Amino acid sequence: VDLIRGEGKIADKSSVIVSGKKLTAKNILIATGSRPRQLPGFEFDETRVLSSTGAIMMEKLPKKIVILGAGAIGVEFSHILNAFGVEVHLVEMMDRVLPLEDAESSALLERAFKKRGITVSTSTKAASMTKSASGVSVVLEDKTGAKKTMEADQILVVTGRTPNTDGIGLEAVGIKTEKGAIPVGDFYRTRMPGIYAIGDVIQAPLLAHVASKAGEIAVEHIAAELQPARAPKHVPALIDPLSIPSCTYSDPQVASFGLPEWKAREQNRKYEKASFPYRGAGKSVAVEQTEGFIKVLIDPDTKEIIGAHAVGAEATELIHEILLARTAELLPEDIASMIHAHPTLSEAVKGVMQVVEGRAIDI
Ligand SMILES: Cc1cc2nc3c(=O)[nH]c(=O)nc-3n(C[C@H](O)[C@H](O)[C@H](O)COP(=O)(O)OP(=O)(O)OC[C@H]3O[C@@H](n4cnc5c(N)ncnc54)[C@H](O)[C@@H]3O)c2cc1C
Repeated sequence: VDLIRGEGKIADKSSVIVSGKKLTAKNILIATGSRPRQLPGFEFDETRVLSSTGAIMMEKLPKKIVILGAGAIGVEFSHILNAFGVEVHLVEMMDRVLPLEDAESSALLERAFKKRGITVSTSTKAASMTKSASGVSVVLEDKTGAKKTMEADQILVVTGRTPNTDGIGLEAVGIKTEKGAIPVGDFYRTRMPGIYAIGDVIQAPLLAHVASKAGEIAVEHIAAELQPARAPKHVPALIDPLSIPSCTYSDPQVASFGLPEWKAREQNRKYEKASFPYRGAGKSVAVEQTEGFIKVLIDPDTKEIIGAHAVGAEATELIHEILLARTAELLPEDIASMIHAHPTLSEAVKGVMQVVEGRAIDI
């Protein structure tokens, strides 16, 4: 692999210009990622008004910070800064933290955050902001229109990302973006033959493992076209959206894949649900991590696992056993009857499947 450092711009369907040098290839894969989205009135200066990039580079802790946006990034920074003793105010426009997760996961996380002293304001938006030499003054507005002003040393704005699709030469090859992102079809091909796009530029779930899996699929497809004899077998055309794990590294951890209840209802999809509390797994008591649950959504006719949600210690690890079951087309009874070592947190995974099967023993 040749690594050429510099800013690339597509010149035509088989060449890219980097620092005045033309590189040619049969295929081009666009993976230019995304950047923090600017919120009008809250422009980043990385001193008082931080983006996630600025927050990562932080050298001195603020005493008090307002974090706008309670998606995974806002939640993770709330967790980290609170652990360092910073007074954190987390503000979310939607009616709960982690609005894309199952509502029960959001509720448990919010309760845990409040117990840790993090102030959480949901159904609240930041209306305006003024900077001073010593900090920022943020006007927050709740859904009734009531306003209050909050003083802080800094404000961290993590309300979304913008795909890096401008200035990369898409117009030269006739690729039009949709809401800033590059539309793709099977194998992550764009509308221009030979050009592929993966990762944050296609606005798939903005996750590193989604970007790299899509990269594998695209590159294996390119390789198969170039060398049919060495083509890998069974390359999927796209990632199964119900099999993408999504993890928030806070305390408690939050992990999921597939459908949350709100989305199943939105899609008129029939489901059965089952939950198992961490407390039912002996190890959670031994390690004093009893807060949390594992919940699954099951198709009532086929018993297919269509969603899983875990909140608590090592939730981001535990989710993978259930995801393996889904991808291998196993049924809840397969996990329910498999021996899980005692004492482990994984017993909660067995436990939730026993609940599905109507034969729970440990609760
Ligand atoms: C604070 C934060 C925490 C995150 N945590 C997680 C996490 O825990 N787990 C997870 O799965 N995901 C996480 N993500 C998301 C994850 O980082 C992205 O989804 C992933 O990096 C996307 O990969 P990508 O290859 O599309 O883009 P990137 O990783 O952003 O890479 C794109 C690269 O292209 C370069 N580039 C852009 N334009 C050009 C050009 N014209 N020429 C040459 N180079 C160019 C950029 O400089 C960059 O290096 C997090 C994101 C943020 C911001």
